[in-house]
Amino acid sequence: MKEFLLDLSLEELKQKITNMGEKPFRAGQIFKALHSGLDFDEMTNLSKDLRLKFADEFIAQPVKILKSIVSKDGTEKFLFSLSDGNLIEGVLMRYKYGCTLCVSTQVGCRMNCAFCASGLEGLIRNLHSGEILGEIIAVNRYLGGGLADKRKITNVVMMGSGEPLDNYDNVVKFLRLLSSPDGINISPRNVSLSTAGLVPQMYKLAEENLHVNLTVSLHSPIDNERQQIMPVAKAYSIKEILDACQNYFEKTGRRYIFEYVLIKGNNDTEIHAQTLINLLKGRPCHVNLIRLNEVKEKALKSASDKDAYRFMGVLEKAGLSATVRRRMGDDIEGACGQLRRRYLDDNK
Ligand code: SAH
Repeated sequence: MKEFLLDLSLEELKQKITNMGEKPFRAGQIFKALHSGLDFDEMTNLSKDLRLKFADEFIAQPVKILKSIVSKDGTEKFLFSLSDGNLIEGVLMRYKYGCTLCVSTQVGCRMNCAFCASGLEGLIRNLHSGEILGEIIAVNRYLGGGLADKRKITNVVMMGSGEPLDNYDNVVKFLRLLSSPDGINISPRNVSLSTAGLVPQMYKLAEENLHVNLTVSLHSPIDNERQQIMPVAKAYSIKEILDACQNYFEKTGRRYIFEYVLIKGNNDTEIHAQTLINLLKGRPCHVNLIRLNEVKEKALKSASDKDAYRFMGVLEKAGLSATVRRRMGDDIEGACGQLRRRYLDDNK
């Protein structure tokens, strides 16, 4: 496979092109062009020979938009194709203050959570840092944006397919590339990283000096029940996860968020709410309750709107900060891995 120049920092790019006999100042031009979404044949400030030489050896844009579907509420779902033919998804949410893109970090996922479509076929491969970045670059360009002063996407959530902390090095590199002053320059403070709770990597992340917002998929306050929903819970207890969150808070000063997918009759009872309160009370955290996006391959049902708000009320009454996540894009199969699966089914 050809190398992705988007995987490289500006320094690494400088090194690479000077090794090829090019002038180092070209690196800045190329870096900017790559991060604004240009292909080599569009980099008209380079000579034709140089463009051909690069195209021969490297891939400029490893992520292409294959298809997009707009929801009634304006949420837009993207199916991206990668240079090896793999497919991934992203979701664009338009808010008053800007646009948030939800990105995938792996093709498939190893976690195999009971309610999620992404894990159905296991992990296919990790995404490169330049591919995760490429999702943002592709949508930015699609929206008519460019680098920092013209960027359309202002916030990023790593809540698409994949487990970001299972692809640790590429994800950390991606965060550094995303915040590069010569590129799109989105600060990690405007990025949320969502993890199923890989404890050792949570400690490691706290040392990176990145200040990315940490979000943990909890889904149950009871260890053995959590293990039924999320197989990875067999490796790390809730207590270990809470300790890792607390450490993250102490090292970064960032409050952490728990995601809690409400599954009807499973984790949405009064006992679950009370146990959750006992667990989280007094912690610098927020609970984001999510109504399950029902996946056709899975039997699990979502808690009703009424039950979701009742659950939130119980948490709030006890002093926890909690919200029910706005339903967005459920008419376009907005949840993890759904669109990719349907596309693959339809094109079998
Ligand atoms: N692996 C990471 C990030 C990807 S999942 C993690 O587990 O956090 C991102 C979020 O989407 C998780 O909170 C996950 O539980 C949620 N999610 C996945 N499938 C869903 C579905 N069908 N309905 C609602 N939320 C879902």
